[in-house]
Amino acid sequence: MLDLEKLSKEVEDQLQEKFKEIDDLCYFNSKKVIDAFNKEGVSEIHFNTTTGYGYNDIGRDTIEKVFSRIFNCEDALVRNQFISGSHALTVCLFGLLRPNDVLLSICGKPYDTLDSVIGITPNESSLMSFGVNYEQIDLVDNDFNYEQIEERLKKSFVKVIEIQRSKGYSTRKSIGIDKVSKVISLIKKVSPNTIVMIDNCYCEFVNKKEPTEVGADIVVGSLIKNLGGGIALNGAYIVGKKDLVKLCAERLTVPGEGKEVGPSLGANRNILQGLFMAPSVVSSSLKTSIFASCMMERLGYEVEPKWNEERVDIVQNIVFNDPEKLIKYCEGIQAGSPIDSNALPIPDDMPGYDDKVIMAAGCFTNGSSIELSCDGPLRSPYIAYQQGGLTYEYGKIGVISAIERLMK
Ligand SMILES: *Cc1c(COP(=O)(O)O)cnc(C)c1O
Repeated sequence: MLDLEKLSKEVEDQLQEKFKEIDDLCYFNSKKVIDAFNKEGVSEIHFNTTTGYGYNDIGRDTIEKVFSRIFNCEDALVRNQFISGSHALTVCLFGLLRPNDVLLSICGKPYDTLDSVIGITPNESSLMSFGVNYEQIDLVDNDFNYEQIEERLKKSFVKVIEIQRSKGYSTRKSIGIDKVSKVISLIKKVSPNTIVMIDNCYCEFVNKKEPTEVGADIVVGSLIKNLGGGIALNGAYIVGKKDLVKLCAERLTVPGEGKEVGPSLGANRNILQGLFMAPSVVSSSLKTSIFASCMMERLGYEVEPKWNEERVDIVQNIVFNDPEKLIKYCEGIQAGSPIDSNALPIPDDMPGYDDKVIMAAGCFTNGSSIELSCDGPLRSPYIAYQQGGLTYEYGKIGVISAIERLMK
């Protein structure tokens, strides 16, 4: 019988240097957050709330200024009226694109839920149904196809380029900030008026720079992922250039009203505290992912990224090549969760996804994936996408629970 406690001790010894790097990253990003809080004079008064139209919500407006500072950009829209990250991405795309415009994805096919938004899966409410043209350039060897991007931009005007950093449910690698920086330089050189939009889900605070600091025009992410710190109960953000954020705000609310409306309904305190916790929670998630990566590699599984590889997001892939093993691992993550540990996750159809998906998430916030969670589409090669961990210790316990279930 394999002694998992012993193996995990060995693995942790091996990871000490990596963990130290993550502690340094956490300190750096914590400094970013506290500076933003201090400069904006965050105060108890900002925990107050508005109802109804939500005029003059100083807490909400201060949160948006704090986000602008953290992303080093002109403006932010941080709202609990966003249902999800996909909703914020939808609002952003519909805010920026008009009939006959071209949307170009340069990371291959975007995240599954965007299929219906764009019209890749035909939908009466898609961008394509409004006459927006969609084009795509695939990655080559996990990097941008710089030549093809340049050629395309020289041919005719592209209104929006979308870059999705995290891999979603694909088998590619996630895209680091250096590559994002390099491709934005190219885009701006060839076509300065093309808007560069980033799907930043799962990537916040994993590096020292955010995409707005390397030239991205507009950046989108979810608050039940990294920046919500496990405390925000819902919502998402859009940050970037002022005129573009305005277009998004007018799509989310009302043309002519934009950011002026939108009641915070009690969310301000949680959003602020979640952001405050986010650097530390992201660090715990990273440590949990690295721990899982090293453990599973030792047990003979193919993992991506490996424990010592550069990380761009909090997601850990484990390749099972076997549906039963994927399901068992997810069951074990669920069994090691604080909430609904006795529930049995079962692969099922999900709105927005084509294959059956299994999702293990015993979370305080429904669907929150900054909390330890593990999911994957039931398609070959049966990859688990594990992410989150509010504390490293609970993350480690969850991973050990998953391995135990897998080996039963
Ligand atoms: C999570 C995620 C989204 C948005 O998903 P929601 O569940 O709608 O918040 C979009 N893109 C990527 C890459 C993601 O990881």
